[in-house]
Amino acid sequence: MYHRTQTRPVKVGDIQIGGNDQVVIQSMTMSKTHDVKATVEEINRLTEAGCQIVRVACPDMRAAEAIPLIKKEITVPLVADIHFDYRLALKAIEGGIDKIRINPGNIGRREKVEQVVKAAKERGIPMRIGVNAGSLEKRILEKYGYPTAEGMVESALYHIGILEDLDFHDIIVSLKASDVHLATEAYKKAAEQIQYPLHLGITESGTLFSGTVKSAAGMGAILSHGIGSTMRISLSADPVEEVKVARELLKSFGLAANAATLISCPTCGRIEIDLIKIANEVEEYISQIKAPIKVSVLGCAVNGPGEAKEADIGIAGARGEGLLFRHGEIIRKVPEETMVDELKKEIDKLAEEYRLK
Ligand code: SF4
Repeated sequence: MYHRTQTRPVKVGDIQIGGNDQVVIQSMTMSKTHDVKATVEEINRLTEAGCQIVRVACPDMRAAEAIPLIKKEITVPLVADIHFDYRLALKAIEGGIDKIRINPGNIGRREKVEQVVKAAKERGIPMRIGVNAGSLEKRILEKYGYPTAEGMVESALYHIGILEDLDFHDIIVSLKASDVHLATEAYKKAAEQIQYPLHLGITESGTLFSGTVKSAAGMGAILSHGIGSTMRISLSADPVEEVKVARELLKSFGLAANAATLISCPTCGRIEIDLIKIANEVEEYISQIKAPIKVSVLGCAVNGPGEAKEADIGIAGARGEGLLFRHGEIIRKVPEETMVDELKKEIDKLAEEYRLK
């Protein structure tokens, strides 16, 4: 699949955003940032789930002062989400933050913006400009009448202009909207006009189920145009779920390196095994596998192996047993009670083969 790589590479800690075909997964903590213990715990859970960069809210000085303490305990780059207050940005930068999310046009007087830019430059810290359809500048809303993709890009260009005037170019841009069409249009227009990497998001998308569907629809449309260097799924749910959804979405587009994928049949009256339970168990198991393996779980042997030819390894239910197959060829029969364990062993073997390649 084509993926837009001609963007400026921007480093966030040791992770590069843009300038390649990777899409970096981000999420945001729910804890109060000044509660260092809770925030570190949450960040470490997110990291374990595959989150590559974590953002924390930085609404006050207590939060900004917690940053160096949090940084000591985590292994992923940390981003501070700041609105308006340049002193919080300076404190976060001083505390070793890896990126700040702030709109320079909202900081206020020019000297305040200059101070933030100078501090960020000195430490090599990038900034994300976050345009949100729900909070566009008044003059842009007056010009277009309501939030439009053109207005969102105009807002992004306005904030970018402020940073470029100060010779600052380590910029990442997001253009979030909760309306899928609006977000898609905004990102497409931005990709034509903005050389900086784009951070994807469908904001306020909803709960775990509805938000996952909406995010997949919106971000899927944007990713299918080859757009996006980093992303955050926004759900009213445990942020670990955001990471899981992001990983799965990237897998669907072949954009997740070293991740295993599950193919499972939709079930029908021919089913011979407890497929739903098995599929869930196998899905959980492969979430930890770091190899591009396709694993298939099928309810019966009638169409099973044929339907899963593209799978590397799989199992198809038969009466009282399972047929284990590799690349569509049956390799052996296993009793029903042990077939999931046998499949897991084969998955591990394949993962090891990939590792040694
Ligand atoms: Fe039905 Fe078998 Fe196909 Fe599953 S694999 S949908 S059980 S025919």
